[in-house]
Amino acid sequence: MCGIIAHAGDREALDPLVTGLEKLEYRGYDSAGIAVKNGHGLDVWKCSGQVSDLKRTINTVDSSATLGIGHTRWSTHGPPTDENAHPHTDHSDRVAAVHNGIIENYETLKEKLSEDGYEFTSDTDTEVIPNLIRYYLDHGNEPLAAFEHAVSDLDGSYAIATVIEGNDSIFAARQGSPLVLGLEENSYYLASDVPAFLSQTDTVLYLEDGDVLEVRSDGVEIIDEEGQLAQREVEQVDWQPGETEKAQFDHYMLKEIHSQPESLQKTLEGRFDREKDEIDLDLGLDLSGIDSVQLVACGTSYHAAMFGASLLNQCGVPARSIRASEYDVSAGTPSERTLFIAVTQSGETADTLTALSSAKEAGASTLAVTNVVQSTAAREADEPLYIRAGPEIGVAATKTFSSQAVTLTLLSQFLAEVTDDGSPLDTLPELVSDLSELSNAVEQVLQTSDAERLSREYLNERAYFFIGRGLGCSVAKEGALKFKEVTYEHAEGFASGELKHGPLALVTERTPVFTICVDGSRKTVTNAEEAKTRGAPIVAVSPPDHGIVDTADEHLYVPEMHPICTYLLANVQLQLLSYYSATELDRAIDKPRNLAKSVTVE
Ligand code: GLU
Repeated sequence: MCGIIAHAGDREALDPLVTGLEKLEYRGYDSAGIAVKNGHGLDVWKCSGQVSDLKRTINTVDSSATLGIGHTRWSTHGPPTDENAHPHTDHSDRVAAVHNGIIENYETLKEKLSEDGYEFTSDTDTEVIPNLIRYYLDHGNEPLAAFEHAVSDLDGSYAIATVIEGNDSIFAARQGSPLVLGLEENSYYLASDVPAFLSQTDTVLYLEDGDVLEVRSDGVEIIDEEGQLAQREVEQVDWQPGETEKAQFDHYMLKEIHSQPESLQKTLEGRFDREKDEIDLDLGLDLSGIDSVQLVACGTSYHAAMFGASLLNQCGVPARSIRASEYDVSAGTPSERTLFIAVTQSGETADTLTALSSAKEAGASTLAVTNVVQSTAAREADEPLYIRAGPEIGVAATKTFSSQAVTLTLLSQFLAEVTDDGSPLDTLPELVSDLSELSNAVEQVLQTSDAERLSREYLNERAYFFIGRGLGCSVAKEGALKFKEVTYEHAEGFASGELKHGPLALVTERTPVFTICVDGSRKTVTNAEEAKTRGAPIVAVSPPDHGIVDTADEHLYVPEMHPICTYLLANVQLQLLSYYSATELDRAIDKPRNLAKSVTVE
């Protein structure tokens, strides 16, 4: 993971570097650092902890440097200590580098460099990078050539930015980790993600794997993986700087929960025709020959993938949701008639990208359901299908889950229409009509939710269980994941029928069971009753007149709509429950311990 920022231009670098790091902190926040080039050499400040800790050191610094790099870390190699924080320098402190990714052959490189007298002070894989550059400089190479040689020695994934003493360029490279260039008059920014420089410019250029760059205040040179000078398209992003601010909310998570009425509207915009009950996803890919679907994802996106798979199966299109990290060992080889759908909020999730590339190799058709335009998944797949949720900064995904689930709902009906064996839900007209009401219904839940009171009612319990069936099972699992991410309490989501096959042994009067009930089936009600008999408090997450209501001790009500919409409203209730419980417990809601938002390592 990690966030990288670099600046070259005719303004002072420190400010945009610190601002960039603050915006990138969602990608990692166990240590932070900055290096700038000054008149006499390089200045490096770094420490374990958050950007706010780094700022305390930097506040007293008066630097007119215009060239610099910064990093906020989510460690893969070595604990989050001052020594392991980036930037790392070579042993003579003349080259500084920041890195996002993993250098797989670092041990071999470190051994070789150590034999040649290069000294190492950290546990990281990254430290070989500045030392390799130094090695090639020591062997008579010019800075760009030294950087290129060093990069070609690396195996693994990386986005790298470096500064070299006495040189006015940032040297950077990308292989498997994101890197985007922001262009402003007389200034360039390099970053892992657009929000890092969005307050300065919305003009961007996305780099490709294999690219090496030299960025100076007066221009940029990109060399592609063939070693040729490359031209890349310059684009405008349509995210507004305000979208990455907290506004009046205490946390990004709450802001993002509350922005779902708007984000869902954007997800749906222009994608269905209410007159004809037709879904229009504007896909260029011919999907009529598809006979099976694999939905591959991690974390919250995996729960959206479960939601999508469940719907596709209901429509007669054979579909499986598969955890991306398990893809190579449990998915089986897809055929040319398989549609592989990568579901990834960031479009940079390493496990999902690896699975995507093996599915492509096997000849499957591929789609990327993602929030980030031009992300790696969007570019690697045959076609992107954007969820249009807008920037999400809170590490715990909220609005992107809703938008993924809605996008996959539309896709499921579209596939059911175009494939031989599929047929859209009988209730498609009702669904289409209710989807256009979904934003209002989410607003109603946000206004009337009792989740804040309930969070106090059930604070400090032994464990929290979430149960549901069908689409409700994916919502239960997502509810539990959200709860554990932000409260650090033990929470589990189960298919409700599974409770009696083991988990019931854990059920006591100190394990509230949040029961998601939307459709007419009594099965989940019975499962909740089984838990209640063993003393568990039951919280119904359901419409007010559902059969579960009498069994339940407490209620989180949702308006009754088409079941697909009602399940998504149940999820909003559970998002609020997690948020308020975490607030009561005084947790680091937007930056939960040990986590980061986009997981760009396998
Ligand atoms: N491998 C580097 C480290 O541990 C970078 C980590 C990352 O990008 O997640 O410091």
